[in-house]
Amino acid sequence: MIATKESAIDKFMKMVEQRNPAQTEFHQAVYEVALAVIPFIEQHPEYQKANILERMIEAERILIFRVPWMDDAGNFRVNRGYRVQMNNAIGPYKGGLRFHPNVTLSVLKFLAFEQVFKNSLTTLPMGGGKGGSDFDPKGKSDNEVMRFCQSFMTELFRHIGKDTDIPAGDIGVGSREIGFLFGQFKRLTNEFTGVLTGKGFAYGGSLIRPEATGYGLLFFVDEMLKLKGDSIKGKKVLISGSGNVAQYAIEKTIAFGGIPITASDSDGFIYDPKGITTEKLAFLFDLKNNRRGRIVEYAEKFGCEYFEGERPWKIPADVALPCAVQNELNEDDAQMLVDNGCRLVAEGANMPTTPAAIALLQRNGILYAPGKATNAGGVAVSGLEMSQNSVRLFWTREEVENRLKGIMQKIHEQCIAYGKNADGSIDYLRGANIGGFVRVADAMLAEGHV
Ligand code: NDP
Repeated sequence: MIATKESAIDKFMKMVEQRNPAQTEFHQAVYEVALAVIPFIEQHPEYQKANILERMIEAERILIFRVPWMDDAGNFRVNRGYRVQMNNAIGPYKGGLRFHPNVTLSVLKFLAFEQVFKNSLTTLPMGGGKGGSDFDPKGKSDNEVMRFCQSFMTELFRHIGKDTDIPAGDIGVGSREIGFLFGQFKRLTNEFTGVLTGKGFAYGGSLIRPEATGYGLLFFVDEMLKLKGDSIKGKKVLISGSGNVAQYAIEKTIAFGGIPITASDSDGFIYDPKGITTEKLAFLFDLKNNRRGRIVEYAEKFGCEYFEGERPWKIPADVALPCAVQNELNEDDAQMLVDNGCRLVAEGANMPTTPAAIALLQRNGILYAPGKATNAGGVAVSGLEMSQNSVRLFWTREEVENRLKGIMQKIHEQCIAYGKNADGSIDYLRGANIGGFVRVADAMLAEGHV
């Protein structure tokens, strides 16, 4: 029986690799889904007959375009822009924009594919997409970033719209970039609509959107621990990254009584054994969001250890929350977590844990939950921002946060519904993948062969 499942998955992956050569990140994201979904499809011939999974891995539309811009010294510069419109079976395309030098079509296809399942899990009416550029905002002046964003939007605006495709932020695209992109969209179309989410509150943004991914992650972790009769109170927590997701994951960890002891950036990580407190977090917010400095400055300021070029996973702790980038936690890292007694790994970033590391964690009975479930809070509040824009109202912080909490609880329930093992334990990976798949697949069946 197992041999049949493996061979069906192998055959499927061979086809994926042949049709998408050299797109390794995309192969990895599809493989993670295939492992859970193909055995499920084998028991549901209606999905098999309609070739649903084969149709889901083919993007509905991919746009690739030139982005010319001029730097402050008057040099002519060029980058590549992308938008991957993956699937709109349950709603308009929705997903962030990433500006980072390692952005490729493979990275954006992996992110867009993940987004389809994640958005489905939120239970809100949002399809999946992702976009971005190999432009690096780091080290650029505000004026250079503005000229780049204006040029990027000068092509993208033709392909997006409040009922078609609604981009948001991701790595390298924060409130500054969203502001510039929105300004240019408005200028080109003469329309003030909710075409982007993550907007500033002054021009149509939602309260709690900046906090949503980090807070949502902790709401989910809270549910996982509650099910075990436990809580995060007093637990040591490893967090990687120091950007949007990491900052608010640290904030909510503190609020729940946990002790965040690490943070990182692409240069290294800090280890603060006494815990990052609210006061120290205020320094981190200012360092990263206003001064755009490096994490080493935290260690200098508070006199704690800094590990250059390393990641936090070797530090003993109870919980690990990777919140930086894909494939930042490998098999060796997972082994260190296991050896040091870590009990739970939940992803704030997209696909931060390699397949070998996931297998190792699961083999060792560590509670592991994938990003498509645990970091869905960001897109969920983006969905709530769209609702508020449609009815031209603003909800209070409490209202948005309560809705976010409710959505994370519903995602957790779906993971249980589809991921419960015979011994009562929960396979969150299987639960999230099948839970995300079913709603999209049913909509695709209903909408015909389009
Ligand atoms: P930010 O750009 O705000 O922060 C990214 C963080 O990751 C920075 O600390 C950055 O350090 C670090 N980082 C980037 N590349 C590397 C690398 N190669 N090695 C080590 N660290 C690295 O992005 P976000 O916080 O928004 O996003 C983080 C992750 O969460 C991404 O995977 C994103 O897709 C995912 N996510 C984000 C959501 C959101 O709402 N923002 C929603 C759902 C998922 P440095 O400054 O040195 O580059």
